[in-house]
Parts: sequence; structure tokens; C-alpha cells
Amino acid sequence: MLRLFFCALIFLSPISFAADSGDGNSKIIRVAISRNTAQFKLKTSGKVYALEVKTGQKYMLLDKSTYEVKYISPAQLAVAGTTLQSPVKLLAADGGDRVKLNGRFYKGDMYIRTAAAEKLEVVEHLSIEDYLYGVLPVEMSPDWPLEALKAQAVASRTYALKNVNPKKDYDITDGVETQVYNGASGMNARIVDAVNSTRGEVLKYKGRLITAFFHACCGGHTASASSAWGEDVVKPLYGVKDPFCSPSSHYKWDFYATTRDLLSFIQKRGSSALKIKSIRVYKRDRSGRAVSLRFLTDSGSFTVNTSDLRKVFGTYDIKSTLITRVAPLNGGYEFTGRGWGHGVGMCQEGAKYMANNGRNYKKILRQYYPGAAIEDIGRATK
Ligand SMILES: [Zn+2]
Repeated sequence: MLRLFFCALIFLSPISFAADSGDGNSKIIRVAISRNTAQFKLKTSGKVYALEVKTGQKYMLLDKSTYEVKYISPAQLAVAGTTLQSPVKLLAADGGDRVKLNGRFYKGDMYIRTAAAEKLEVVEHLSIEDYLYGVLPVEMSPDWPLEALKAQAVASRTYALKNVNPKKDYDITDGVETQVYNGASGMNARIVDAVNSTRGEVLKYKGRLITAFFHACCGGHTASASSAWGEDVVKPLYGVKDPFCSPSSHYKWDFYATTRDLLSFIQKRGSSALKIKSIRVYKRDRSGRAVSLRFLTDSGSFTVNTSDLRKVFGTYDIKSTLITRVAPLNGGYEFTGRGWGHGVGMCQEGAKYMANNGRNYKKILRQYYPGAAIEDIGRATK
């Protein structure tokens, strides 16, 4: 273990640095790579400068070395045992790969800063197009048809830029709660093609970026943003019929739950039932999704939110709230439904089949975000 930390920081003369890198034509996005940790190991894959932003003092991190980074105080952090003022900016000395964190490479400018509750925060600043190179390979398979990948690039670019918020320390996280970003590790020629050939293109409605949600499979009708989150209710996110995704293996699903698990679920929510007599869909939204289910029991009826049921039984088991049938089976209940995911915005499976049938990315985007205009970011005003 000691060998890992033999590299010390090398102090260089104070210098001033230019503003964030970028090609001048592309917007910068700030992605939170790591949060809620008080220390971590940073690996270098080239010479990297560590810049104390407040003083301009510069240190060098050697090539192919591991450095320990630790929280010290609200204003200080330590890199390889040397205490520095927060924030510290990392930038490549040679323009190549910069640092490796949690097994992933990052090429943008990294800022390490102290955060609340004695934690450190790592935020990467990079151009939106470089960011998309790291989003698309995880959000859509690189071997999918190019026009579907291009539609995904426009949706993901729009979604990310909609999140830009200068009042916060970062614009977007890198996990499933927004859209997944794995740094520069997953770079792929087809992804680069999809991103570059739609460069700068975003979806807008009445002059404003839309929150371009997307999901795996809608099961025949996309959901309205209003029923899912009660926000951003603009026409392109009202939900549409989708005749394209029916060949998908995610189009239909079924899930078996035991009576015991279902009883436990409603008892934890206040029901005193000891027996379930029947379960039926109680309320549906316009897209056909089950908003609530009604359990008829030995102590009366009890209504639950379907999204709550899905959260508890698992989003990989109850794949959507588009539940078409609930029927008794072998002493328990079988749930049958369609699609996978929240159902709002672009149906990725539908996009794939549209592309396979010769539709281009603009047609795909018009199908899933009706009424939204595809505009160049250069004219974007947000
Ligand atoms: Zn669909």
C-alpha cells in the first residue's frame, strides 16, 4: 500500500491559467462525478497539474501515479499529504487523458472542493459534446442504428442543457437520477458520429429548451410528464401513441407476487387486512397507466399508488405502471403490463425500430416530442 502513495506533490511556480477549456463553440457543462466521500484515490494517466484556484499556486502530479485526496476542513483539502486551499483544479499538462477516478477516465477539467458535512465533491467541467460521448454508450447501446443514436444525442444534449444552473456548484449528476455518464471510458466511433453529426442541436418548445425525458420502452403509449412528476407540462411531453415498439422484448412483462408480500405491503401502509379478496386497477391516466390499485380485503377496500408498489417490488420486476391486468394465480397475484420505465418522452425501443424502418432522427424526435423544434444551440437562449 505504501508504494501507492510514494508520489508527493511537486510545487511549481505560481502561474495564472486561462478560463475553462472548450472549443469556443460549445457550451460547458459541470458534472458531479463524486460526492459524499471524505477521501478518495486519484490515479493519473499523464502529467497533471493541480492548481490552487484562490492562490494560483501550481503543483505537479506525476504520470501513472496514485494520490490520496482527503477532506481537512471547510476551506482545506489534502492531496498526497500536502494541504491545499479548496477548490483545487486538475488539468492535464499534455492535453491527453487526465485522471482516473472510480475506475473511469475523465478528460475535462476537474474541480475538487470541500462540501457540506465534511465531504469532498469532484465536478468535471467539459464541453457538452464531450459529455455526450460519455452518456450515449450507457444510455443507448452503441450498436443500435445510427439514426436512433442521433435522436438520443439530441435528447440527451437537450436534457443536460435544461439542467444548467449557474447558482449551483454543478449542473447535473452522473447517475440514473438524471442520465448516466461514465467519463471518457466508453468512447466509440459510432457514438462520436452520432454526437458530431447532430452537433449543437437541441429540442425547444416556444423558444425554451424542453426537459427531454426518455425511457426504455413505452409499451404502446408514452406517458405524460404531468402524471409522472407534475412538472414541465409542455405539449411535446403530453404523451403520444407509439405504434413502433411492439416488436421489443420489453413490450410485455408479467410479475407474480405472493399474497403474503402483498398483504405485508398494504399493512405497512395502514391496512388491517388479513385476507385479500381481489385487486383491480382503480384509476388510469390518459396514456393507460395505472395511477392507483384497489385491494378489496376482509377489512374493506384499500387504495395504493402504483408507483409506490413499483418502488417496493422493484422497477426491474414491475417494469412499468402500464399494468393491463391483475389476476389471482396459485394463491398469489399475477401482474401483467407493457413497457419498461417511466414512459415519458422518447421511447428508445420505438426509436430503434423507427430507425430500422428507414426513419431519420428528426422524424424520430418529431414522433416522441411532437411540436418541439430542433434548433441549433448557437441560437439557444434557454
Ligand atoms: Zn414505445
